Amino acid sequence: MVYYAGVDLGATNVRAIVAEADGTTIGVSRRATPRGPTGIDVTEGVLQTLREACGNAGIASEEITAAGIGSIGPFDLAEGAVIDPANLPDSIDRIPLTGPIAQLVDSDEVYLHNDTTAGVIGERFHAERNPDDMVYITISSGIGAGVCSDGEIVSGWDGNAGEVGHCVVDPQGRLTCGCGREGHWEAYCSGNGIPTFARLLAEDDPTIETDLPLNGPEFTAKDVFEFAGEDELADHTIEQLAHWNAVGVTNVVHSFAPIVVSFGGAVALHNEHTVIDPIRERVAEMVMTNVPEIRVTDLGDDVVLEGALASALTQGTGDRDRLG
Ligand SMILES: [Zn+2]
Repeated sequence: MVYYAGVDLGATNVRAIVAEADGTTIGVSRRATPRGPTGIDVTEGVLQTLREACGNAGIASEEITAAGIGSIGPFDLAEGAVIDPANLPDSIDRIPLTGPIAQLVDSDEVYLHNDTTAGVIGERFHAERNPDDMVYITISSGIGAGVCSDGEIVSGWDGNAGEVGHCVVDPQGRLTCGCGREGHWEAYCSGNGIPTFARLLAEDDPTIETDLPLNGPEFTAKDVFEFAGEDELADHTIEQLAHWNAVGVTNVVHSFAPIVVSFGGAVALHNEHTVIDPIRERVAEMVMTNVPEIRVTDLGDDVVLEGALASALTQGTGDRDRLG
């Protein structure tokens, strides 16, 4: 028998999956992402999770033929490591992944991707027509994309292609992004950005009435969506989000000519009617080329994990013709 593995390293959880050659899952495992003190501790947590998934599958880790990893970045791709991850403690400066995992599974076939690239590989693999041109966009605490163009997974020389959340949507640059630059898409429309955006909109027009706890310490994006249809400012914010999201997605469509744009991430998954439906309507009116299908992933929270596994099964591509 031949076996394949996928690993999802997130800022909160590490997950691993082991499958047979046809993709049938035979073992899974999950644990909280170690908070350090060093990157090696995170590597150890990843290896332990993968060992457990193999144990649950009833196989030895050396029986794995290939492994895919979808991970938080940024990366040193040549070294197969995560460097200075933003959402983990500062003491973690380097998390070696490719080498240690290759050693554990005793195979050189290990594919490292950022989480959105793993997302597009999974979406492509599971999509009905297995399209060659596809974009996966996550709207969660940040915004990012994974791109497959002409059948090739686009990574850029340093692995940083697809950072579409840092495209400028507001040339006035009224909000500052978490990255320190101004006017970026995710400063307005990500889970982290939405509360600040709602406050800005309230300042712009003080006549808009609202019961949103704008200045409370616990004010989050979730509040805005929970007040939808009942609160003038919540509705205005959702309307403005639709506009900036449609600008961002239209730029992506004009850049890559995808046939499908698939969304994941908590903000998209939990608010399909308030976030994704308006994007679909507006993009159809804003795009001057072919309008892609716009959908929400069927894989839910498993999209990165399933994408990592799909990468292992298809030599890093999501192309079903390459199934072993
Ligand atoms: Zn930015």
